[in-house]
Amino acid sequence: WEMVLSPLPDGDRLVRLQDRSDAHASEQMRVDFVANASHELRTPLATLIGFAETLQDDEAAGDKATLQRFLKIMEDEARRMQQLVDDLISLSRIEAERFSVPREPVPLLPLVEEVRNSCDRLAEEKNSRIVVEQTNGEPVVPGDRAQLQQLIQNLVVNALKYGKPGADVTVRFEPAGPEMIRMTVIDRGDGIAPEHLPRLTERFYRVDPGRSRSMGGTGLGLAIVKHITQRHRGRLDISSKPGEGSRFAVYLPALSSKSHATVTEVTRS
Ligand code: ADP
Repeated sequence: WEMVLSPLPDGDRLVRLQDRSDAHASEQMRVDFVANASHELRTPLATLIGFAETLQDDEAAGDKATLQRFLKIMEDEARRMQQLVDDLISLSRIEAERFSVPREPVPLLPLVEEVRNSCDRLAEEKNSRIVVEQTNGEPVVPGDRAQLQQLIQNLVVNALKYGKPGADVTVRFEPAGPEMIRMTVIDRGDGIAPEHLPRLTERFYRVDPGRSRSMGGTGLGLAIVKHITQRHRGRLDISSKPGEGSRFAVYLPALSSKSHATVTEVTRS
């Protein structure tokens, strides 16, 4: 046994006694996860309660402008909690299904189109375009359509959020062996220092917690990406050059690559 101080996302610490044996490692991860998730929910909840209490004071509620401002803050906090709960539900569903390999043939380009539509506002705010590059025919993988869409969405949203304003985000599809395809989401942002790379897909791990939260991040996006990739028997490779940008490459078993002559199709939003 050893005593361990685990940092919680807001700088608080959790003291725990840790059994070093493997048998207890996964139980320990579960306990940490519940502690982190509860902690993440507590902050928006406290804000909501605080503003609801203030609004019961006639003076604050009587002023229309103040009322509107407070209601907007309460809505934002409630949405933050909703996003967190949605991500937690997604993660537990994906994990529950991890032993069943999904086999529906899923063409990926239409999914990127859907993601592009749903990221329209964010792309506009950042003045960025989502550029799709495709070589060697239509990429189709055996999988779970909704999960593959979520995987692409999480990577594209991050690329937009952490990318430089005005810089394009590229989603590139290319063959990676006879029955594999590689999808790479490329941004031109600040990049990620090498010491963070191995931990990025951990639940609630953030390089800059303040920045992540202020952009509405739950800290679960890449954990979800990792689990979806694993369920599809794929592999995730993250590389980054600080100051230049990052690349998130997902290798997936491909169902068919209709062997057209090599074409490069570039579509722009
Ligand atoms: P979040 O909701 O915080 O974005 P994620 O799990 O999606 O959570 O990502 C974890 C952390 O990895 C982020 O907080 C951010 O620090 C870093 N990160 C993710 N994608 C990128 C990217 N494209 N460029 C730079 N940093 C990134």
